[in-house]
Amino acid sequence: MLASTHIIAGVALASLMEGNLAAMAVTAVFAILPDIDTANSFFGRRVPIIPQLLKHRGVTHSLLMLVIEHGLTNHYFGPDWALYCTLGWASHIILDMCNPAGVQLFWPHSRKVGMPLIRTGSIWEFVLAVLIASVGIKINI
Ligand SMILES: [Zn+2]
Repeated sequence: MLASTHIIAGVALASLMEGNLAAMAVTAVFAILPDIDTANSFFGRRVPIIPQLLKHRGVTHSLLMLVIEHGLTNHYFGPDWALYCTLGWASHIILDMCNPAGVQLFWPHSRKVGMPLIRTGSIWEFVLAVLIASVGIKINI
């Protein structure tokens, strides 16, 4: 999925949780963090060593990393912020699982988990992003 779709999903989720702007921003940031493993992502461009070390849609898109992320954010930021961080990260993994390429959900096991529903950058991804945004916006009106 495109970063914009992940950001929209993160903001919508925080919105559904009645989070404030800071919560929406945190959720959006954590919704794009898993793609730090690809060189053309926002974070991958800023920390270029990581895409060289990690396989795309590997460990950063796994349940193991989700648990580690939650533990770290809970420890450093507290349970309220950890919830938004983990929501963002989890939404990224779930959205990427809707792509035919799938994710290594059970890393280090190499099998990818995914469904051939939405190709990255397709019209269906755009439709999905609009639907997600509509749900998030509708709740707050
Ligand atoms: Zn991803």
